[in-house]
Amino acid sequence: MNSRLLLCIALATATSTAWAAERPEDRWNLADLYPDTQAWDADAARLELQMKTFESCRGHLGDSAARFHECLDLRSDMAKRYSRMAVYANELFSADTGASSSLELSQRSQVLGSKLGEATSFMRPEVLAMGSAKVDAFFAADSGLAPYRHPVDDILRAAPHTLDAEGEQIVAAFSLSSGAGGAAYQILSNADMPWPTVKLSDGTEAKLDQSAYTKYREASDRADRKKVFDAFFGTFKEFERTFGVTFYSNLKEDTVNAKIRHYPDSITASLDRNKVPVQVYDTLIAQANAELPTLYRYFRLRARMLGVKEIRYYDMYPPLVGGGRQYPIDEGKQLMLDAVKPLGPAYVEEMRKGLAGRWMDVYPRPRKLSGAHMAGSAYDVHPYLLINYTDNYESVSTIAHEWGHAMHSYLSNHAQPFVTSRYATFVAEIASTLNEALLLDHMLKTSKSDDERLLYLGSALEGLRTTFFRQAMFAEFERDVHARVDRGEALTGDKITKIYGDIL
Ligand SMILES: [Zn+2]
Repeated sequence: MNSRLLLCIALATATSTAWAAERPEDRWNLADLYPDTQAWDADAARLELQMKTFESCRGHLGDSAARFHECLDLRSDMAKRYSRMAVYANELFSADTGASSSLELSQRSQVLGSKLGEATSFMRPEVLAMGSAKVDAFFAADSGLAPYRHPVDDILRAAPHTLDAEGEQIVAAFSLSSGAGGAAYQILSNADMPWPTVKLSDGTEAKLDQSAYTKYREASDRADRKKVFDAFFGTFKEFERTFGVTFYSNLKEDTVNAKIRHYPDSITASLDRNKVPVQVYDTLIAQANAELPTLYRYFRLRARMLGVKEIRYYDMYPPLVGGGRQYPIDEGKQLMLDAVKPLGPAYVEEMRKGLAGRWMDVYPRPRKLSGAHMAGSAYDVHPYLLINYTDNYESVSTIAHEWGHAMHSYLSNHAQPFVTSRYATFVAEIASTLNEALLLDHMLKTSKSDDERLLYLGSALEGLRTTFFRQAMFAEFERDVHARVDRGEALTGDKITKIYGDIL
């Protein structure tokens, strides 16, 4: 059971600089989930007990509307409990990917998730065996069942892709042994990589871990940028074979899952979860490619403003205008609060409460997970946000983005019963990119000079590159490699690099 709702923007700005000014309020407070791991253990025991109780539902879902309701409630409560446990385990790990105790808890959480998946695996085939006429009669008889209409419709819709009870149990049992590729990738790329150290033109010696890389790739000196790029990606290149194997194993899992669920291919299986037609995906990629001249125009503008003749990948990151204004976190928060005013006083007030309530882990640290993400599935608690804030404008834009996700989850969790509180990834970026746009609007209205306005406009252009074109490029790459593995092709690290490089 994969109940982790995690929304990321890859490699957000960060640095390995020591942030001496870190205050307690700059760390998130995971104690809102559980005061300690003993409390987590106690909840795990409760969940185990619920699983035993749920066993009595097997073969009896169709006994009566009341019994059906009771079993759906229990299943929902188990999923809610498990979500909270998973957020705690995952975020404890995110805060320090090198801590064995956190890794152990996150592994225990996965074991429990797999067990829960197994314990509830009979449900889908049993609902299908009841048939839609009986299901409809139950819904008509018991109005309290209404919140389950959509989840149950999803089960009915997936009939052609659902196995019998024994098959579902086998699939659920195997989930325990899946995900190894992703897990190995995460630890190797965050905690275990032997990061290179480079000497920059001003004498700075920089150890290029993920966060330092995102800082120094913005260097104003072009030779420095190239050096940083070559050293950072050169280190990844040394592990190309290993990363290739982890990624290939991920792809193979998708292929196998699509096959056993009778989907024609991985992409159809993946999109069917949210009932998105494959044509939507294909159209996105086609349109991104059709609009490439617009992207090239941005590249030409960037080259002109940076004063370089032929633009390279390592020229993407320095801001279009200098000035180096800093935005310390408290100012960043205030700018964000001011920017979201058009969403109404209630929204601003809830966001202010969240900011004061230590939902966010602000600054970069060694071994902390790179990038930025929001975890919103602890339904009874509140969202958590992991950021790597570095005082530049991109950092402000990043918190506006992630708080967009957080408020989306927060408001959804308050307006919806648990079973319908999740939202699809397909719509998730609306809430986050809207807040980025509101921030841009606010900054343009309040900026004091043309240079400052150019900084924000440049950041907005870069946002279009990364949010639209680059994401579509990832989609094209994903479509390509998945299709190859679906067809039974072998994929090694160097071949994956070639495919990615060609699209890039
Ligand atoms: Zn996002």
